[in-house]
Amino acid sequence: MYYGFDVGGTKIEFGAFNNKLERMATERVATPTDDYALLVDTIADLVAKYDQQFGVQGTIGLGLPGMEDADDATVLTVNIPSANGKPLRADLEAKIGRQVKIENDANCFALSEAWDEELKDEPAVMGLILGTGFGGGFVFEGKIFSGRNHVAGEVGHMRMPIDAWFHLGADKAPLLSCGCGKKGCLDNYLSGRGFELLYQHYFGEKKAAIEIINAYQQGEAKAAEHVERFMEMLAICFANIFTANDPDVVVLGGGLSNFELIYQELPKRIPKHLLSVAKCPKIIQAKHGDSGGVRGAAFLNIK
Ligand SMILES: [Zn+2]
Repeated sequence: MYYGFDVGGTKIEFGAFNNKLERMATERVATPTDDYALLVDTIADLVAKYDQQFGVQGTIGLGLPGMEDADDATVLTVNIPSANGKPLRADLEAKIGRQVKIENDANCFALSEAWDEELKDEPAVMGLILGTGFGGGFVFEGKIFSGRNHVAGEVGHMRMPIDAWFHLGADKAPLLSCGCGKKGCLDNYLSGRGFELLYQHYFGEKKAAIEIINAYQQGEAKAAEHVERFMEMLAICFANIFTANDPDVVVLGGGLSNFELIYQELPKRIPKHLLSVAKCPKIIQAKHGDSGGVRGAAFLNIK
């Protein structure tokens, strides 16, 4: 049995998968965000509970919004304060008595999609999440490529490309501050949050992404102007990412990935922004939706 944990800023989702990668159990509990001992106990208790239920010792994989420090393996995460700076993997292994794997949650999302039946023969699959934030992961020949410091695929903290900046109107574009301490990170522009921030910046009105999309679908002028500006910005930023990474397939997840127009517009808009020899990869919507993180975390122990 393969156990996956998607440890988020508000909840922990647990999933157990059998050898056919079928989901056999699901449980969600609140994340202890300010009590580290309780966080370790919560995960260990779920493992013990399902070990007993299935009569096996499952393998353990954890996906979280952050990564381990490359040198001392302490966790780097702003979303789960209780785990930040703590040797979570070592403490879980000591408590549970077996190996634990930890990966970035966007990498887990990419792995879950890359192992889907339809994509399993694609050499390079990039997962991009247009959610509250913007992030990504890269799977090469069935394995996560996370780099020396586990930051490979962290496209959300690349800064805005100059051509996208001019597209936004160099003297009108907002220079947004990022949670990482830098300014101009893509996280703040391409995410659902960015979609709303840009609308507010150009029109002085605060609206939820879904309201803007509904207005767009009813032909409202400001929403149309906003969506046009956003789609072209997205195409320029994606083209910059694709020129450097050249994936075969790109899978989109997160709330904004439900905006169907993206799949019509990007293939038309991206080619002119790529290095001229490159072609636009296939861009598709994620199949496994919100369960991608927990699936990918469980798959860390396979192969
Ligand atoms: Zn940043």
